[in-house]
Amino acid sequence: MPDARDLLRLTASLAADYLESLASRPVFPRAAADELRAALGGPLPGEPQDAVQVITELAAGADPGIVASGSGGYFGFVIGGTLPAAMAADWLTSAWDQNAGLYSCSPAASVVEEITRQWLLELLGLPAGASLGFVTGTQMAHVTALAAARLHVLERVGWDVGRDGLTGAPRVTVLTGARVHITVDRALRLLGLGTPTRVESDGQGRIVVGALAEALAEVRGPTIVCAQVGEVNTGAIDPIAAIADLCDRTDAWLHVDGAFGLWAAASPRLKPRTAGLERADSWTTDAHKWLNVPYDSGIVVCADPDSHRRAMTVQAAYLVQTEDERRVRDGFDWTPEFSRRARVFPIYAALRALGRSGVAELIERSCELAALAAERLSGVPGIEIMNEVVLNQVLFRFSDDALTDAVLADALLAGDMWLSGTKVDGRSAIRLSVSNWQTDEGDIGRVVRGFSDAVAGRSR
Ligand SMILES: *Cc1c(COP(=O)(O)O)cnc(C)c1O
Repeated sequence: MPDARDLLRLTASLAADYLESLASRPVFPRAAADELRAALGGPLPGEPQDAVQVITELAAGADPGIVASGSGGYFGFVIGGTLPAAMAADWLTSAWDQNAGLYSCSPAASVVEEITRQWLLELLGLPAGASLGFVTGTQMAHVTALAAARLHVLERVGWDVGRDGLTGAPRVTVLTGARVHITVDRALRLLGLGTPTRVESDGQGRIVVGALAEALAEVRGPTIVCAQVGEVNTGAIDPIAAIADLCDRTDAWLHVDGAFGLWAAASPRLKPRTAGLERADSWTTDAHKWLNVPYDSGIVVCADPDSHRRAMTVQAAYLVQTEDERRVRDGFDWTPEFSRRARVFPIYAALRALGRSGVAELIERSCELAALAAERLSGVPGIEIMNEVVLNQVLFRFSDDALTDAVLADALLAGDMWLSGTKVDGRSAIRLSVSNWQTDEGDIGRVVRGFSDAVAGRSR
């Protein structure tokens, strides 16, 4: 057996080497899949291998295939980096190897979940009595929230979905905007609720309130409305207050996908854009995106703890609880997982390290840099900025798709930044997302120069 301390020292040193390389390594890796297979593949060893050697070779073999998404020059998808305190807490989480499923497996994880729940509700301006679960990402947060929604809306018409399932149940109507995130669709599919009915969205991707009102007027019976704060391309925020009014009138359950956008509520300056947010029935968000904690880390919040718990809880005779255990809420009552990583520790560490003002500053700075990028990119010949930059997303394109695709490919060649291409209403576009705590004005300058040079190169 290797000395554990030596192995961890070596690992810390490899990790630090990686982090130091972020300043100079290409943001997107150059290695092809075959090179990675050659370095990392081969038959499964027949005999045990030395752990130091395994780790050394893993680090060397994987390195050419690592995306430097922790670098300030990474603007792809909506992917955050990792704050130092969050990363350090994540290491401890692995060393402790706690099962956060229930109190008796880890009093520390349970109590830190309880504390972090209160901090998050306060920070995001959500009802103090709401329940909260720590899951892998917004995808599973949707599954959890919409399972609670399904239970609740069916119960109101006298149907017990927990006991009787969906066979023969009254039809549940689900309404979403036309630009709903695909993970909402998948959650609904997993829950047996089928494909939702789409409601018109405007050019920014916001639900058109009049269209939702019309759709709701035609619906009878159990209804769920899915809105969003932070459309994945544009960052657009649905008019939540008006949507909440409609849901109140029709007794529809209002679910809000706030995978990244929910964090706007933590900024006093941006919060007004999310007006009405606290009136929803459930919310989902990620810590691994804008809060900059390591993957994987999502959060589900429910204004109706009873429906949330009954949709998720499990009970068994062998799970005998003490008085203390009963008072602290068990994690497995609020998530679809049974055994579960104590992924709350990195969230807790990130929130403590940033404090209330640090979270607001992180969110506001990202938005300011996105606005700066939009302003400066709009000066590059041929670039059309497609969105109102309300959060951290900038969407842009050129006059034709071939040019958009070609300029993006050229701009990425230098390797000092990475952005993702996307399709909007069938046309090519480029997406810039400022989600990393390390991104600064210098990184924005490099993006603008990269696109200016690529455009100049093409017109030569
Ligand atoms: C990223 C994203 C999701 C999915 O989140 P995961 O954490 O990847 O599961 C859902 N909705 C929106 C708007 C997103 O940006």
